[in-house]
Amino acid sequence: MAKVLCVLYDDPVHGYPTSYARNDIPSITRYEDGQTAPTPKAIDFTPGHLLGSVTGELGLRKFLEGLGHTFIVTSDKDGTNSVFERELPDADIVISQPFWPAYLTAERFAKAKKLKLALTAGIGSDHVDLESAIKHGVTVAEVTGSNSISVAEHAVMMILALVRNYLPAHEWVKKGGWNIADCVERSYDLEGMHVGTVAAGRIGLAVLRRLKPFQTHLHYFQRHRLPESVEKELNLTFHSNVEEMAEVCDIITISAPLHPGTQNMFNESLLAKMKRGAYIVDTARAEICSRDGIVHALESGQLAGYAGDVWFPQPAPKDHPWRTMPYQGMTPHMSGTSLSAQVRYASGTREILECWFERRPIREGYVIVDGGKLAGTGAKAYTV
Ligand code: NDP
Repeated sequence: MAKVLCVLYDDPVHGYPTSYARNDIPSITRYEDGQTAPTPKAIDFTPGHLLGSVTGELGLRKFLEGLGHTFIVTSDKDGTNSVFERELPDADIVISQPFWPAYLTAERFAKAKKLKLALTAGIGSDHVDLESAIKHGVTVAEVTGSNSISVAEHAVMMILALVRNYLPAHEWVKKGGWNIADCVERSYDLEGMHVGTVAAGRIGLAVLRRLKPFQTHLHYFQRHRLPESVEKELNLTFHSNVEEMAEVCDIITISAPLHPGTQNMFNESLLAKMKRGAYIVDTARAEICSRDGIVHALESGQLAGYAGDVWFPQPAPKDHPWRTMPYQGMTPHMSGTSLSAQVRYASGTREILECWFERRPIREGYVIVDGGKLAGTGAKAYTV
């Protein structure tokens, strides 16, 4: 029987919810790229309930314990005395989430002698040291597609919030003010602006599709070109290098996986090449941008705004400079874990576990590392 170790974020500070703002959520069975949403044999949770926190347990306890497995769920993930580190040495399966990442480092892989499957309940497995997974023969899988639209919607919201100066204007309302001039001295229209995405995969392309009706000029940069039909549909300008795109865009949105090819891409030198007063929205991974470079660019006016929901490390320490830098609209890492998204990634996690225990192949699109090498989606999106 397997020991399944699962790391999830804490329950709300006021306790696990007993009621919800809405009675139901739309049922999504197919994604924009045609892929079917997860198809587990059964689920043991109510769609729309909080599944991603410790008490929610991704709705997996009945299923796992019914099969005789041991299921440990904790939010205590950092440091050698954490529950995660103490339970890791004899865990067969680790389930973790990018929002509250249980970093599976090379040192932790060395301790996890029984580990066979590292499963990300969400998208983005960069918190797992993929080189070590390859070395130790551990399979890495994630629930591809499960929260792509959730993140795309968040990115569009953040673009609008920055450009229109929404958050500072809202603060004036709460302070009892009616300070129109203060609200609009940094407020613009998105219409007519040039918006570029770093990566036009599931999330990046969905952001482009949602921005088209705003009458923007759309650009993208990634290693492979999109089909001509998509470029035509969205009237896209392709750039073969990021510098060329950064120089002409008013807004850059980042939707690329974190790997050696994207780490620190938006460093001081690239930030200096951008148009003065440009905006960046990063909902992919924080380490794609230079932490201090972003702060300096906002303080100097080189950037007019920065928003995103990804930080390093996570949770971000109280004194992380992105909490207090000017002209920002940061949120904690929440875009991909709306209640709507949780149904899909909890179902996908269950689907992967069913496949694993029944020795059936995991969907190729969910696989990142298998058989000692990058495989499936991992072979397309990552490098080690
Ligand atoms: P996809 O696999 O669908 O797309 C990834 C894209 O990245 C591909 O189109 C790929 O194109 C491109 N890419 C890879 N390397 C580079 C590079 N060096 N330069 C430019 N483009 C590159 O992934 P998703 O769109 O589903 O997700 C993207 C990332 O978003 C995830 O890896 C994750 O880190 C993050 N994410 C964040 C969430 C959140 O809650 N904030 C939730 C979900 C995901 P090509 O190979 O042609 O370069």
